[in-house]
Amino acid sequence: MTITRPKHAPMPQFPVEAGQLHVGGRNIAAWAEEYGTPLYLYDRNVIAATVATLRKVIPAGIGIHYALKANPYPPLVNFLSPLLDGLDIASVGELEVALAAGANPAHISMAGPGKTDAVLFAALSAGIRINIESAGELIRLAQLAHAAGCRARIALRINPDIELKSAGMRMGGGATPFGIDAEQAPALLMQLGDLPVDFEGFHFYAGSQILRADVIVAMQRHCFELAVRLATEAGLQVRSLNLGGGFGIPYFPGETRLDLAPIAAGLQDISKQAREIWPGVQIDLELGRYLVGEAGLYVTRIVDRKTSRGKTYLITDGGMNHHLAASGNLGQVLRKNYPVAIGNRIDTGIEETVSIVGPLCTPLDLLADNVALPQAVPNDLVVIFQSGAYGYSASPNGFLSHPLPREILL
Ligand SMILES: *Cc1c(COP(=O)(O)O)cnc(C)c1O
Repeated sequence: MTITRPKHAPMPQFPVEAGQLHVGGRNIAAWAEEYGTPLYLYDRNVIAATVATLRKVIPAGIGIHYALKANPYPPLVNFLSPLLDGLDIASVGELEVALAAGANPAHISMAGPGKTDAVLFAALSAGIRINIESAGELIRLAQLAHAAGCRARIALRINPDIELKSAGMRMGGGATPFGIDAEQAPALLMQLGDLPVDFEGFHFYAGSQILRADVIVAMQRHCFELAVRLATEAGLQVRSLNLGGGFGIPYFPGETRLDLAPIAAGLQDISKQAREIWPGVQIDLELGRYLVGEAGLYVTRIVDRKTSRGKTYLITDGGMNHHLAASGNLGQVLRKNYPVAIGNRIDTGIEETVSIVGPLCTPLDLLADNVALPQAVPNDLVVIFQSGAYGYSASPNGFLSHPLPREILL
């Protein structure tokens, strides 16, 4: 019996030429030489190709928004914003990046629990839509709008009343700090008429990193039907329906790319029905990881190579302080390896099994555990794929006070 181990999905977005990984038309060693390591490289052509693929498949008229949380690097947001229909933010810092990117405030929305009065006021003043996450937040926002003599643009973020499961991840439905429970929404909707707020519609965001199209289709269908029920009962017209996102990308062995076709078909049905009920309604998706994750590489240089009781370690100049997710410490239950390569020796023939660790004095700083790679020596470059989302900005950069990595949009 042969046992085939699950493999990482291929990474065709970055070509290999003369044994070196190429990005932005040059080999990886040239970029490492120019900008130093550790380094995040984001390839704008890969981002543009992802957007183009989505546009081709997703029904016309469905808006695609970018959630800055995935990667708020300003040059990347500046590049992405004009290609899309809106930006989703969750802090005043992200609001500033979105406005500096030239995004129209009419097409910016803010989500997130725990918006302080100062944050709500900044959003109100900017004229963006605020996705309301609780009854208390609605009242505080209404008070601020009343005091300022203006009206707030709002959507209610709804926590759906079902649980959809994908690979063990809960997709909303239970207790959560995010959004308003579906069963609490009718009472809140009744109050809106007395408040200085303009109700624009509903926002749903109930899961991340979903690779199963059927789960996304079922979730979007459920959210749409819930929105219809809530709006009908409250006698409200919906102008905006944000169905969230959660589209995943393959990180770990055995994972494959999301099949967009069933999602497109499901959205086609939803959009047809929605327009019959609410003429002129705008339906949007809100994607983070899917838009930028595959376009990014984390590049770190091997400083040392050693063996300990039969195990070979490659020790690099950057680690979990720059890339927490690759170390397995950003929410993973079981640690698994990201796709990784020796960027300047892609196919040398001689393979060995190594573990790659960063320079931090903690066993948590593990970038790849027992991976088969071409034999590498100090000064070679370790490249971690799928690093365009939840990399730099989602890592504990201050831990151990090493230098920060550079980020470059190519
Ligand atoms: C995190 C988040 C996103 C982006 O999620 P991805 O999984 O990166 O697509 C979008 N919207 C909201 C409200 C979020 O919290």
